[in-house]
Amino acid sequence: MAKDGFSNGLKVQRRISAKILRRVFEILDDALGPQHWWPGETPFEVAVGAILTQSTAWSNVEKAIGNLRRAGALSPKALNRLSEGRLAQLIRPSGYFRQKARKLKNFLRFLPRNGSLQKIMNMPAQELRRELLEVKGIGPETADSIVLYAAGRPVFVIDAYTRRIFSRHGWVDERISYDDFQALFHRNLPENTAMFNQYHALLVRTGKDYCTRTAPRCSACPLESLLPVPWPDFQVAEKRPIKH
Ligand code: SF4
Repeated sequence: MAKDGFSNGLKVQRRISAKILRRVFEILDDALGPQHWWPGETPFEVAVGAILTQSTAWSNVEKAIGNLRRAGALSPKALNRLSEGRLAQLIRPSGYFRQKARKLKNFLRFLPRNGSLQKIMNMPAQELRRELLEVKGIGPETADSIVLYAAGRPVFVIDAYTRRIFSRHGWVDERISYDDFQALFHRNLPENTAMFNQYHALLVRTGKDYCTRTAPRCSACPLESLLPVPWPDFQVAEKRPIKH
């Protein structure tokens, strides 16, 4: 048995289409409802969260953001005043805190001198994305999270959950590049910020609650009806109650 819970790997390849991408969205939207994601009171807080969430669970990010809030440091100017060492201490719960403190400082240097996000948030989406990717420590997933959730522009965020769900169903190879995977969504779905926002949030929820890395709970998952048939040696994990 492979460690992802599927005994024969990801050999099934099926054609992905606009119809499939819409169907996945409709099923999850009906089953799970509005997700109200991404949490954050300001675009800056959303951007900080997008950087802090790299390689850690959101619950840890919440603790780090709580520390920043209590220290009165959730604005570009206030964060700028903190030393990198003090910043690292405040965001310690998010893990990799020294690297993340450096990334946050790099992001602050990217902002205009007055710290206002307005100018960058008004940039065309692809230009903003390109500029963010120039910031050391910001990769495609973080850049796209900032463009979609902080700037409100229609780019689709690809993350590990999306990759896992779509490759387990045989619609993409798990090694597909970030850009190629994202292009499938952009080519086949309308450019709609609200939909991209909700779609990504639904995939995150599905990945957390059902399509876990080692024990997928397909029999309880809304997407079970879209699994390929037959799936050789397919293993359905034991049904367990979901914690929300
Ligand atoms: S049915 Fe759900 S848990 Fe199973 S592979 Fe699909 S998304 Fe993952």
